[in-house]
Amino acid sequence: MAARVLVIDDILPNVKLLEAKLSSEYFDVITALSGAEGIQKAETLSPDIILLDVMMPNMDGFETCHRLKSNLITSHIPIVMVTALTDATDRVRGLEAGADDFLSKPVNDVALMARVRSLVRLKMTVDEWRIRENTANQFGFTGNKSTILSEHYEKARVLTVEDKTFESEKFIETLKRDEDAVTAVRSGEQAITLAQQNDFDIIIVSLNLANEDGLRLCSQLRLNERTRSVPILVIGEESDMKRITTGLEIGAHDYILRPVDRNELLARVRTQVRRKRYQDRLRTNYEISLSMALTDSLTSLYNRRYLMVHLEKLLRKNIEAKKTMCVLMLDIDHFKQINDTYGHGAGDEVLKIFSERILMRLRSFDLVVRLGGEEFVVVLPDISMNMAIHVAERLRKGIYSSPFNVIVADKQTDINVSTSIGGSLIAAGEIKVDEVLQLIDEELYKAKEDGRNCTYFTEQGLVTMPDRPIVADSLEEEMIKEITGSD
Ligand code: GH3
Ligand code: MG
Ligand code: MG
Repeated sequence: MAARVLVIDDILPNVKLLEAKLSSEYFDVITALSGAEGIQKAETLSPDIILLDVMMPNMDGFETCHRLKSNLITSHIPIVMVTALTDATDRVRGLEAGADDFLSKPVNDVALMARVRSLVRLKMTVDEWRIRENTANQFGFTGNKSTILSEHYEKARVLTVEDKTFESEKFIETLKRDEDAVTAVRSGEQAITLAQQNDFDIIIVSLNLANEDGLRLCSQLRLNERTRSVPILVIGEESDMKRITTGLEIGAHDYILRPVDRNELLARVRTQVRRKRYQDRLRTNYEISLSMALTDSLTSLYNRRYLMVHLEKLLRKNIEAKKTMCVLMLDIDHFKQINDTYGHGAGDEVLKIFSERILMRLRSFDLVVRLGGEEFVVVLPDISMNMAIHVAERLRKGIYSSPFNVIVADKQTDINVSTSIGGSLIAAGEIKVDEVLQLIDEELYKAKEDGRNCTYFTEQGLVTMPDRPIVADSLEEEMIKEITGSD
């Protein structure tokens, strides 16, 4: 799909000119003749990038830019300010209002296309995280309420690659104003080594290194997993414009021309650092909400939502591999009484210890899920009926054989806990997740009816033999091997 560009300019011929240039490169162009109209279109038509004129009556470009970047709906859209002003102070003002870049009028075609393409690409990454975060939000988790402008830019970890001592020192001195931690190196090789070992917020690369090509370094940084999303700011001479354009095409995020204006350097670094931190925040939020959506916070076990999706996959795999698997449902006996006697907090502790005792008696690839309340499901892939019964009994014994030690009213207290288990061996074949749960639920019910602290299996009935050792010694050994994976 073509990227959508919004052009905001109060002078119609300017709008038409940019529209023609962009349309000929197959961009989808929308236009607005004032800041207010631009904001309204940005909110409703979700452009991928905005080209914004600085000099406009009523609301000027700086104000429009600031409003767009402070607005949750539009803050993630990259903005390029288009201006006749060449004064560095104005450019800095624009960057501080949140602009991602500047283009001078008359607009140079190569620079225009390079900027638009590189910013659109950057936006795609942010969009991807926004979509995932949105999905996570549908699970009921509060989303990210920050905008790029609300991110901090201070104390950034900066790597500079510059072999001219004078220039390098100028960068360090300038970046000190934001309390950045600057690591300065003179070669691409040193840069790669350091960037693989550290997390940088931005890498500044000189395109005028004496003995090597800074562009090669840029492409290496892009290919490397650890540095792939670290912003790169390239520094070049005005005569290097073609190489700068190549740099932007292969993944540099921004450039700055020599002689480097200190304020502009600072402003561009701030913009990139904020963008990186914003992106990192989206990613972290997503990962947290994802794990919250699929796990239970009390026991850290997977939850019902995860089981439903994963068990279906396991059932399919069971068919492909022509194996049998076992599914167990465990329900703590008289748990309500535990709560009533020792308090809800103690009940929570019991649930945690219960989970630990189950987990430690299983193989690493067995799955334990807290279905809800004091109900758990265990999935044992690739297992025989005999072994499944032994594992189930081992789990049951592991719960009641020694009391749970819980602190109740500041005192260590022993609580006797037992569990009833319903199990079923699932042969390779067509069966739905719901049907499996139904089967083991029925067996669990029988175990409860039979006085609790026992195990029932489909087609086997009661498998607990109270007057005999739960697991024969030889089988015990065999099972330990299977459980621990050792010989
Ligand atoms: P049964 O042997 O028949 O299973 O009896 P039970 O008391 O274990 O079963 P019941 O379903 O009557 O009660 C389950 C109790 O578990 C009721 C509920 O308040 C409690 N419960 C559910 N979730 C939690 C939790 O997260 N923490 C604590 N402490 N209690 C919980
Ligand atoms: Mg119960
Ligand atoms: Mg229950």
